Amino acid sequence: MMNFHILTLFPEMVLQGLHTSIIGRALEKGYISIEAVNIRDYTLNKHGKVDDYTYGGGAGMLMQAQPVYDAYTAVLDKIEEKEGKTDVKRTRVIYVSPQGRTFHQKLAQELAQEEDLIFLCGHYEGIDERVLEEIVTDEISIGDYVLTGGELPAMVMVDAIARLVPGVLHNADSSVTESFHDGLLEYPQYSRPEIWHDKRVPQILLSGDHAKVDAWRLEQSIMRTKQRRPDLYEIYQKKYGKNE
Ligand code: SAM
Repeated sequence: MMNFHILTLFPEMVLQGLHTSIIGRALEKGYISIEAVNIRDYTLNKHGKVDDYTYGGGAGMLMQAQPVYDAYTAVLDKIEEKEGKTDVKRTRVIYVSPQGRTFHQKLAQELAQEEDLIFLCGHYEGIDERVLEEIVTDEISIGDYVLTGGELPAMVMVDAIARLVPGVLHNADSSVTESFHDGLLEYPQYSRPEIWHDKRVPQILLSGDHAKVDAWRLEQSIMRTKQRRPDLYEIYQKKYGKNE
């Protein structure tokens, strides 16, 4: 069982987005749990404020340190209480941020080994640097563009990590054969009917010869990676010493 704890100002957004389809079923079956903690519930400001102007001027508001820190310590207390953990302070805290290192499949695999993960979602101009210094262990971006908040990036990462948790995908093979698993993009796939818009499914896939199908798929994967992602292809070539 893997537990995701998401610190956010918009808990309904992440919960709605993550309660459907495969991730929704994994939640129901208890392979994963997702808790969305509303940072606003922890503000000491009597008007419920969680943001303020930035020192030094500049546009926009900044999320303040206090509510974020108190929401974080409340999550640690819950983990300690529920799971009986004694080393909760070692729980990884991911600040989703355009300034972090870029998320990728290997990182998803690494994070899927954790029992608990805390995601911190910024909003507005971001979060006061001092609380980030105190609680964040990993700063991760989903790409070189700026979004209005960290909720979508957290959902992207939770989805990518959760599907690697044993039991979440029906067929354990599907995460092993797909893109990025071994540094290649996945081969093209076809389903019924055999002919559609005059296009025929490659004959080899109907042959029933598994060795030949595997060889064809690998060849297609390599070709596809070379055409679409020369950067990945170069790494693959270096690793396996193959000249395609
Ligand atoms: N002022 C910040 C900067 O220039 O680095 C950007 C703040 S952004 C408008 C608000 C929040 O959205 C961030 O605190 C972060 O949590 C989230 N965010 C925006 N783009 C992101 C990305 N590419 N990856 C991960 N999180 C992102």
